[in-house]
Order: sequence, then structure tokens, then C-alpha cells
Amino acid sequence: MARIVMKFGGTSVADLDRIRNVAARIKREVEAGNEVAVVVSAMAGATNQLVAWCAQLSTLHDAREYDSVVSTGEQVTSGLMAIALQTLGVKARSWQGWQIPLETDLAHGKARIEHIAGERLLASMRSGEVSVVAGFQGIGPDGRITTLGRGGSDTSAVALAAALKADRCDIYTDVDGVYTTDPRIVPRARKLPRIAYEEMLELASVGAKVLQTRSVELAMKQRVRVQVLSSFDDGTSLGGDLPGTLVVDEDEIVEKEIVSGIAYSRDEAKLTVRGVPDQPGIAAAIFGPLSAASINVDMIVQDVSADGTTDLTFTLSRSDLPRAMKVLEENKAKVGFATLAADKAVAKISVVGVGMRSHAGVASTMFQTLATKGINVQVISTSEIKVSVLIAEEYTELAVRALHTAYGLDA
Ligand code: ADP
Ligand code: ASP
Ligand code: MG
Repeated sequence: MARIVMKFGGTSVADLDRIRNVAARIKREVEAGNEVAVVVSAMAGATNQLVAWCAQLSTLHDAREYDSVVSTGEQVTSGLMAIALQTLGVKARSWQGWQIPLETDLAHGKARIEHIAGERLLASMRSGEVSVVAGFQGIGPDGRITTLGRGGSDTSAVALAAALKADRCDIYTDVDGVYTTDPRIVPRARKLPRIAYEEMLELASVGAKVLQTRSVELAMKQRVRVQVLSSFDDGTSLGGDLPGTLVVDEDEIVEKEIVSGIAYSRDEAKLTVRGVPDQPGIAAAIFGPLSAASINVDMIVQDVSADGTTDLTFTLSRSDLPRAMKVLEENKAKVGFATLAADKAVAKISVVGVGMRSHAGVASTMFQTLATKGINVQVISTSEIKVSVLIAEEYTELAVRALHTAYGLDA
């Protein structure tokens, strides 16, 4: 007997047939004698619709009300899943974040989980009842509903697995594992049977949305055994057979590839601050107010100074661009820059692999490959196990495919 957390993403609960299908899968785990907690996402597309409604009423909407709206998708699916299970003769009940309670901090819209009281859930699971938890949502210190950022149900599941000391956290999605890159844009992507926590963390943080970054962070810290699996065993998933991908410690991976994955992000914008005086304190004057406005900056480059002034270029999330420009314009006199230039048609391409620690040449292969395809590199950034470049968005797929081949990852 094992204690399992099973998480089902939006496409896996997209309609009643799929909910029934998932319920039957849960029933099999229960009948095998396991204690099961389930985490569900909203039906595919539901959260996008809710987010759009808030934005249409006001671009500067109250984040607390946004949370009360966008958390409802998961309320619906948790109740429906409990009904579907009951219909199959399985004892089940739904749990909203506030009922558990799953406590978060106050950062509405991108809250972090602070504590999960597992006792009531455990008691219910021990009595043979399946706990169906609404993912993505919690309750803040203000007593109001919070949400965990897009893709946050993964984090609900991992956090729950840690709180319940579960033996496994199975993440069911619409692909049958973690691939060398997004199988939707590279058909020759290969499924990875295992991936190291650190690699998964880097891949998630640079755009591979198969797992939310925070869920990987948490799994790594709390030693949660995470497995990514397909919820479709009827052949509708992309790629090969079960089982999917296990996220493990680096030393559990025998054959370490130099590059294990490639990710891309289109949620990027580039902002250049032109004509800033080249003197101490300028970077602080630019990035201080941005960070005070909770705007995260990613890649940064500063040009050499010619006439005592210089240009500073950085990247940020595309949705933060209007606010960032507003903040900088408000600080124009203090910083003393000449103009701002924004570019939204950019994408970030990253290659990730723990083998990079001990192998040189990964970056040069990347630059060479992109050059051969005539793709200009605008900004570069690196970490111990990652190289990222910013390129024109129109070349995203071409770049990912070419790099996938160049690093020998094609199936
Ligand atoms: P869910 O709704 O189940 O949470 P998501 O859409 O959030 O599913 O994540 C699954 C998607 O992640 C896949 O459909 C795939 O297009 C995308 N993806 C991006 N990079 C990868 C990768 N390296 N391996 C697998 N899937 C990836
Ligand atoms: N429904 C939420 C979203 O679309 C959370 C999730 O699916 O993980 O972001
Ligand atoms: Mg997801």
C-alpha cells in the first residue's frame, strides 16, 4: 500500500468524458489498496477565460478580486471529479484551498505556499475517502483566496505530497513525460526516462511549462518523488509508452548528457535604456524602482561607453512591459536617460544540461548553429548548467529544431 498524490492538468479534465476517464484511473489506484489524494486543474481554457474577463474590465484590477475569479475553475473540477468518483462507487469529497487550509503568503496572483495542515485530509484519506483538492488556490493571511501563479496546480500537488508524506506525486498531463524539448514543436524530441531536479528546475524556469518552476523547487527541497505521466492511455498522447519521466537526484542518472534539454519562451520583451550616464549608481537607479514595482528582470547587457553615456538592455516578461516603461518614464529625470526602446517580438532559447559543468564548447556550438541558420543573437546569459540567447521571435521554431539536431538529441 502506498500513499499517492495524483495531479491532473487542464486537458486531462477538459470535459465530462475525460473527467470520467480520470475517475476510472483513480479508482484503479484505490482498488490496488492505495491512499489517494487528487489535485485537479481547471478545465482546459477555463482559466484563460477568467483571466481575460478580469483584464477586459480593468488592466489594473484588484489582485484579490482577480484571485476570487480565477480560482473558480478548480472549484468546478474538484466538485465534478468527486461526483464522478462517487458515481463509480468510490468514496470521495472535494476540498477547496481554504477548507484544508492551504495557507499562502499575501502575494495575490502569485502567492507562495507557507503551510498545509494535512491532518483533516489524512483523516479523511485513512477512512478510505479520496480527497479531491482544487489546485492553484490557497488562503492568504488576509483570510482571502489566493492563487499560485499560472500552472500552479503542479505546485499544489507537490506541496501536498510533501505535507502528506506521500510515497509518490504523479503529475498526469497531455504528454507522456518530459522530453528533450517541447514535442509539439519538435516531433523528433525524445522522452527522458529520468531528469535531474536541477535540470528540470532550469528547464521550467526558462519556459518548459510541463512543470511549474516552484513545483520543482519544492520537490527538490522536500525530496518529493515526482513522476510526469500521460493521462491518456488511449493513444491520444504524443510519444511512446508509459511510464513517463521520473525527476530524480543527479547521481541517480547514470549516463549524463552534456545537453539534456532545450526550452523556449515567447513570454519575453526587450527594453533598451539609451543614453544613460556611465557612472556608479546608474544600474541601481534603473533596477531599484523596477524591483519595487515587483517587475522581474532577466538578461542584462550594458554597452561600452563612448562619450560618457551608454545603453543598457534587459529582458522582462512581456506582460510587465507597459508597467516597466511607465516606471522608467516616471524616473527619467533621476536616471537621466535619453530614450526607451522596446521590442516585444523576441524569444529566449535555452540549452540546459548538468554535463556542461565539465564540458566546454556548449555555448560555441549554440552560436555556430544559430549563425549557420542566419539567426542573430541579441543578448546572451549563462549559468553553470544553462546557456540562453535572445533572438527574433519569428525564428523560435527554427532555432529550437536546429539546436536539437546540433546537440544530437533527435530521436
Ligand atoms: P497541464 O495542463 O497538464 O498542466 P501544461 O500545458 O501546463 O499541461 O504542460 C504540458 C505541456 O508542456 C505539453 O503539452 C508541452 O507542449 C509543453 N512542454 C514544453 N516543454 C516540454 C518538454 N520539454 N517536455 C514535455 N512537454 C513540454
Ligand atoms: N488552472 C491554472 C492555470 O491555468 C492552474 C494550472 O492549470 O496549473 O494556470
Ligand atoms: Mg501545467
